[in-house]
Amino acid sequence: MNPVDVMDLVSFDSLLSEEEIALRTTVRDFVDTAIRPNIAEWYDNAVFPLEIVPEMAKLGLLGMHLKGYGCAGRSAVEYGLAGAELEAGDSGLRTFVSVQGSLAMSAIYKWGSEEQKQEWLPQMAAGEAIGCFGLTEPTAGSDPSSMQTFARRDGEDWVLNGAKRWIGLASVAKVAVIWAQTDDGIRGFVVPTDTAGFQATPITGKLSMRASIQCDIELTDVRLPASAMLPEAKGLRGPFSCLNEARYGIIWGAMGAARDSFEAALKYSQERMQFDRPLAGYQLTQQKLADMALEIDKGFLLALQLGRLKDAGKLQHHQISVGKLNNCREAIKIAREARTILGGNGITLDYSPLRHANNLESVRTYEGTDEVHSLILGQQLTGVAAFR
Ligand SMILES: Cc1cc2nc3c(=O)[nH]c(=O)nc-3n(C[C@H](O)[C@H](O)[C@H](O)COP(=O)(O)OP(=O)(O)OC[C@H]3O[C@@H](n4cnc5c(N)ncnc54)[C@H](O)[C@@H]3O)c2cc1C
Repeated sequence: MNPVDVMDLVSFDSLLSEEEIALRTTVRDFVDTAIRPNIAEWYDNAVFPLEIVPEMAKLGLLGMHLKGYGCAGRSAVEYGLAGAELEAGDSGLRTFVSVQGSLAMSAIYKWGSEEQKQEWLPQMAAGEAIGCFGLTEPTAGSDPSSMQTFARRDGEDWVLNGAKRWIGLASVAKVAVIWAQTDDGIRGFVVPTDTAGFQATPITGKLSMRASIQCDIELTDVRLPASAMLPEAKGLRGPFSCLNEARYGIIWGAMGAARDSFEAALKYSQERMQFDRPLAGYQLTQQKLADMALEIDKGFLLALQLGRLKDAGKLQHHQISVGKLNNCREAIKIAREARTILGGNGITLDYSPLRHANNLESVRTYEGTDEVHSLILGQQLTGVAAFR
């Protein structure tokens, strides 16, 4: 049986340009050759495959939506299409591209001095320097304004003390963007990770995002020159603008994981015989597949609409919440439903849906939980903020 493209139900590709389709094909081929054959082993062994970073850099995936400084200067839609393909491989790989490009590089690109941009962005785009983004703390997650990490002035220098938690890539990063309280409100700092007093320890025992790294960071009297501060980022606007970039990528990525789960379930249902017929031939299975297909197509159409708005410079803050909340929520449901079609075999790493579902627990949690995005939409709809 020929593989069916679930996106053909709405002629999705008719909405894309030839360049967009070509980029998607390139990234899909990369995922098929470099990620799919190895992902079960990486996930099982909780390994982030550092060796594929140079390949990703060669494809222009690192900081791909940024212009200049060795970055690919791709559109928001192209960035989204690439993210969906990477996450069809594994959320951990899309997360790497997101932390590097949307968080660490974006922070320097949007808010850094020209010297900071020249120093860091070209080597980050080339995959020679990995970056991380330290906002969350052990006691400050959804409410980053309550962060405790403090940067005090000492002459011309800054001295940072505090702790960060869940910081992607920190133990393999060459540079960390660290957000801290100061006497002048929250500011961002560019911290080379070999600075004395910077300590990153990978978090173990994760049941989600196993093929990626998240760390606890301890900052003990980390002394930095005055030039380490991001000069243009004042208050939470700085980190939030980067989170919005990453949230946008998630809108596409989550649907990539959903599509891959659907495809695994469809194929299995066509091959697996029970009660003398393929599972695909039973109405209950077809109902599941049809429901999944509808949500995948709707999710991608939503992602594309938001991407086109972003490329036109018209994407609004609350619209990112529409996409992040909907697509993460639906992607998890799809991955779990796909797992049911696989029966017992679905709980092994031989098939992707449960791995995707477990990963998506992280994706729905970081960059604003479901609840936080519901509150953003609630405020937009009612005019009343209900965060506290
Ligand atoms: C795999 C992974 C990677 C990550 N990578 C990074 C990274 O690179 N850099 C970084 O800085 N952070 C990172 N994070 C942290 C992530 O952003 C936080 O986990 C997230 O913001 C939620 O914070 P929390 O875990 O402290 O949960 P909490 O904020 O404690 O929330 C716990 C629960 O309470 C709910 N809640 C909170 N406030 C309200 C409210 N007002 N009303 C109703 N419900 C509420 C939440 O929705 C959630 O369900 C990562 C996390 C994970 C799991």
